[in-house]
Amino acid sequence: MKEKKILCIGPLAKQVVDEFGADFELVEVDESSRSEALAETDESVVLIIARGSVVVDQELMDKAPNLSMIARSGVGYDTVNIEEASERGLPVVYTPGAMSRAVAEHTLSFILTSLKGLDSWKHRLQKGEWHLRYQSFGRDVRNTVVGIIGYGRIGRQVRSLLREFEVKVLANDPYIDHAEYARDQVEFVSFDELLSSSEIVSLHVPLTEETRSMINAENIHKMKPGAVLINTARGAVVQSLDLLYEALENGRVATVGIDVFPQEPPDTSHPLFDHPRAYLTPHVAARTPAAQDAIQMTMIGEIRRIFAGEAPNLENIVNPEVFRPPRSG
Ligand code: NAD
Repeated sequence: MKEKKILCIGPLAKQVVDEFGADFELVEVDESSRSEALAETDESVVLIIARGSVVVDQELMDKAPNLSMIARSGVGYDTVNIEEASERGLPVVYTPGAMSRAVAEHTLSFILTSLKGLDSWKHRLQKGEWHLRYQSFGRDVRNTVVGIIGYGRIGRQVRSLLREFEVKVLANDPYIDHAEYARDQVEFVSFDELLSSSEIVSLHVPLTEETRSMINAENIHKMKPGAVLINTARGAVVQSLDLLYEALENGRVATVGIDVFPQEPPDTSHPLFDHPRAYLTPHVAARTPAAQDAIQMTMIGEIRRIFAGEAPNLENIVNPEVFRPPRSG
């Protein structure tokens, strides 16, 4: 019987099993079951790997007095109470950058699927409607206006992939130095201007109190009629599935490309899931072998360093202040 336990909320990656299986008891619980996570959390838990939607909060941390860190295999850390972890001196490991390319490629596939009507052509072909090819057009990506909300790692990667398409790129991000990105040929505009001027709006912000429901009933009406809305960031950045459905029905948006949902897994009985112009994927934008390998290897490297008492790479720590000695005087 091993004394120390690693609790993984969501599936244990093979790399984690290979690395830590010999020395630790590894326990995996369902990614969205808070009750399972609570039941498995006790004084033997030294590390929680938070992969799913269960929030690692005060209650869970209280049940694990010997916890020495929390790890997120990804870049969004809205499922960890960072303030609570920092107060306890617990580092929170994450893996920014490891999956940016994969998520940006997923965003590009939503753009192309939307503008070229790939999915709807398949259904028309299945119905024997070959002749309709003379009656409608796909849309060119070239010369469209693409609005990127959140010009961080993924937003910038999307911009980079769009370079060959010769589009105009608008961006909104009040938290970065715009001058630093002058060479990207991006025009930084206000949130409202981005919504009203873009034919494709793509969300790449973290989920925060400020970005929660950023796309709500009021703001969706600022969008150009017939625009494309893409969300590969976090589901709750869009107010609700109802809002998306209504916007598709009333023509405010032509198509939506959605990888993330306010609640995961979502209730697929919602009419959005049957809408022919809703392109939906189950939070898989970062699920490519290269991205997953980079995520796991980055995370494992930092965990190993922290367990060994060595300095981690602070860019992979959400709350690096826990490693800085308190200032004296
Ligand atoms: P990042 O931190 O590099 O970039 C986020 C950017 O958003 C930052 O530049 C920040 O200044 C900006 N921002 C914050 N608040 C804003 C606001 N109110 N308005 C406009 N901009 C704002 O993060 P990233 O690596 O680009 O990832 C972005 C998000 O994508 C993550 O937080 C995560 O939630 C999501 N994500 C999803 C998947 C997936 O599988 N679908 C995978 C990775 C990341």
